[in-house]
Amino acid sequence: MPEELDFEHWSKKAAEWGVAYRTSLRERPVRAQTAPGEIAAQLPAAPPEEGEAMEAIFADFENIMLPGMTHWQHPRFFAYFPANAAPVSVVAEYLVTAMAAQCMLWQTSPAATELETRVLDWLRQAIGLPEGFAGVIQDSASSATLAAVLVMRERALGWNGNKAGLAANPRLRIYASEEVHTSIDRAIWVSGIGEENLVRIPTTGRHRGMDATALADAIARDKEAGHVPAGIIACTGGTNVGACDDIAAVVRVAHEHGLYVHVDAAWAGSAMICEEFRHLWAGVEGADSVVFNPHKWLGAQFDCSAHFIRNPDDLVRTLAIHPEFLKTRGHDGLINYSEWSVPLGRRFRALKLWFLLRFHGLEGLRAMIRNHVAWSEKLAGRLEAEPDFEIVTEPVLSLFSFRHMGEGRHTGAGDPDARNLDLVRRINDDGRIYLTQSRVDGKVMIRFQAGQFEMIEADADTAFDVITELARKAA
Ligand SMILES: *Cc1c(COP(=O)(O)O)cnc(C)c1O
Repeated sequence: MPEELDFEHWSKKAAEWGVAYRTSLRERPVRAQTAPGEIAAQLPAAPPEEGEAMEAIFADFENIMLPGMTHWQHPRFFAYFPANAAPVSVVAEYLVTAMAAQCMLWQTSPAATELETRVLDWLRQAIGLPEGFAGVIQDSASSATLAAVLVMRERALGWNGNKAGLAANPRLRIYASEEVHTSIDRAIWVSGIGEENLVRIPTTGRHRGMDATALADAIARDKEAGHVPAGIIACTGGTNVGACDDIAAVVRVAHEHGLYVHVDAAWAGSAMICEEFRHLWAGVEGADSVVFNPHKWLGAQFDCSAHFIRNPDDLVRTLAIHPEFLKTRGHDGLINYSEWSVPLGRRFRALKLWFLLRFHGLEGLRAMIRNHVAWSEKLAGRLEAEPDFEIVTEPVLSLFSFRHMGEGRHTGAGDPDARNLDLVRRINDDGRIYLTQSRVDGKVMIRFQAGQFEMIEADADTAFDVITELARKAA
């Protein structure tokens, strides 16, 4: 039997450490300030033969690991999208970790299944999806999208694709805009449909949504060519600049051709708890499948992706397998959520949602999201008013992008791409805030999103100060 751990002591120590960590975040640089290989160089090449003292292990965690961490719960994390872990969801995760149950079938933890059904229905109501959508927690939006693409494949192949494979079948075609997340590409690869059969529809308008006429034309052309259109993946709040498809228009085209529609709202879906933002996905009630990540903006610690399906029978028909040892005889009619997702094993993910929704209430979470949107709009306005900055994409919810043009805003002089790559590097080396760069229409821009759970308005003001100070230092 292995050495016995003083579990009580170390559990308390870990919890105390977590509290001290969270309260000290503002004093830490947001992005890790280490060079590649610096952490690895401090780790022995061979595994330990003899057990070591916990004191030594814990000290190495603090001395070696901590400096190599980027602090995603830092209130001035403005990069990518947030991965919020509200303190109350961290507490729930302690409990989940302690119980460490595998919640793949109803009988392997009835509470996990029944709570998941209930809190997902709470979330369905919270974001304004109509009754009839059933929810399941997937480990990621990538997995939800993969599951949706597999359903598209099976439907289009008369429920024979899993069995016969794709070889003998005509080409399946899936449609999406140029703005969708790379998880869509990977779902198309993994499903065997193939990247050449992901048809990219050009975007149009301020929201950079799919051109519905181009979509209808592409479907018609494919049918003429003997291909089999299988489904459409629409997005609400694309990763780069927050692109939003006109879901109502996409659904209209889909219904004309009997196509399955999946909506990826991984980031923006959390904002739909506020009624005033739902115009961004108007028509969503006509979709077949919708995913959003409470583990992004809402505050449920990763991993927690909410996947809503209009007809879960299609999903179960696609993904359920029934080996003898998983059969739960006598419990017909019960939900086994492992039949709703690609992985078999599943953690008790519903508990943190239950804690989060009960402790903060929808009103508390709405106030947070409304603040983030307002502070982001205010920052965009302040930067716009500066003579040497330009806004590249206007705020969509709490996401916008900008560039520092220096004198170039008026004269067109200089190389703005190089200038902004250099600026974002210096901002992240400085450490007070964290931003990421991207490109839009070929131009380098800097993305800003407000979304961290404990952010306050002064953090947006700090962002303004740091951005303008460092931009002008170079000039
Ligand atoms: C973050 C994101 C994803 C991927 O989410 P995971 O849960 O990490 O798989 C997909 N789509 C969009 C629009 C995203 O912002």
